Amino acid sequence: MIDHFEKWFVRADKIAIVSHVSPDGDAIGSSLALWHFFCSQGKRATVVMPNNFPEFLKWMPGAKEILVYDKDREKADAVLDEADVICCLDFNAAKRVDAMKDKLLAAGGRKIMIDHHLYPEDFCRIVISHPEICSTSELVFRLICRMGYWESLSTECAQCIYTGMMTDTGGFTYNSNNAEIYFIINRLISKGIDKDDIYRKVFNNQSENRMKLMGYMLCNKMFVYRDYASALIVLTKSEMRRFNPQKGDTEGFVNMPLSIKGICFSVFLREDENMIKVSLRSVGNFPCNKVAEEYFNGGGHKNASGGEFYGSMDDAVSLVKQALVKYQDMLLGCR
Ligand code: 5GP
Ligand code: MN
Repeated sequence: MIDHFEKWFVRADKIAIVSHVSPDGDAIGSSLALWHFFCSQGKRATVVMPNNFPEFLKWMPGAKEILVYDKDREKADAVLDEADVICCLDFNAAKRVDAMKDKLLAAGGRKIMIDHHLYPEDFCRIVISHPEICSTSELVFRLICRMGYWESLSTECAQCIYTGMMTDTGGFTYNSNNAEIYFIINRLISKGIDKDDIYRKVFNNQSENRMKLMGYMLCNKMFVYRDYASALIVLTKSEMRRFNPQKGDTEGFVNMPLSIKGICFSVFLREDENMIKVSLRSVGNFPCNKVAEEYFNGGGHKNASGGEFYGSMDDAVSLVKQALVKYQDMLLGCR
């Protein structure tokens, strides 16, 4: 498969790289890493994201070159139409690219999926799917090295890989016990990355408004259910508006209740324009993706998953409570 991919890209002239809607550090990190690599090989590569990405990722080398589909549709359409190869990074199902889905499926370029989510759908000719690996960025590192291009891996490429590995493991605090991760970090440092600087740029780069929204949320909108070892955060549109939130400003809120003693499952319900976005996190053996699948038409990983709800906030909260009742024994067993 890897040899096959190498032949594809060596022959290709134009390459498109796409990732999922609401791109996170791993989506942007893996995409830009591969972009830097292709550029180093003289290819005309373009990264296309379905929508905008958070401010704390804008410093990343190459971020300014990213095309955003819902802002620059014509250009993005042309990139997808004309690409000889289309790399689908950090997602396992076509619907994860949102409005770009039809265009992606119709495009004639050869498609490769590089991803670490469970149950990859069948829409790419080559599927490199490794749910046991902590991030797609790590997969991109492994792919570049396996093809024999270690020497071409630039400092910029290494910075992007590190960012994705770091963000998908919460700064190496979960899904991060594989010893090879630290070997890879060793190699990335040898390429000249400053890991402390990357940490600061991503995690210590918050807006004042986000900090204040967080304070409001923790004090007024976080509900702890001891009998279920769980917590729920609820934020409505009008509450958020008071703090003039920017894209990504609620990122990470869902993790916070997990630092309360005895809490092993956290749910965050955020009212968006036309739906309620559901984010779920757990620690230990509680499979929060089961709750995402059963109640919120979503999915994801055992300890980090999400979904969507079309209806009122009250109804969404009721569903969460149903899930807590159903899984009470398992939840209490996790503490
Ligand atoms: P987040 O809570 O950060 O938005 O998402 C965490 C993880 O849950 C994502 O990496 C993805 O695997 C999964 N996820 C989030 N939203 C959805 C969704 O609507 N559908 C599916 N299938 N998975 C989702
Ligand atoms: Mn990822």
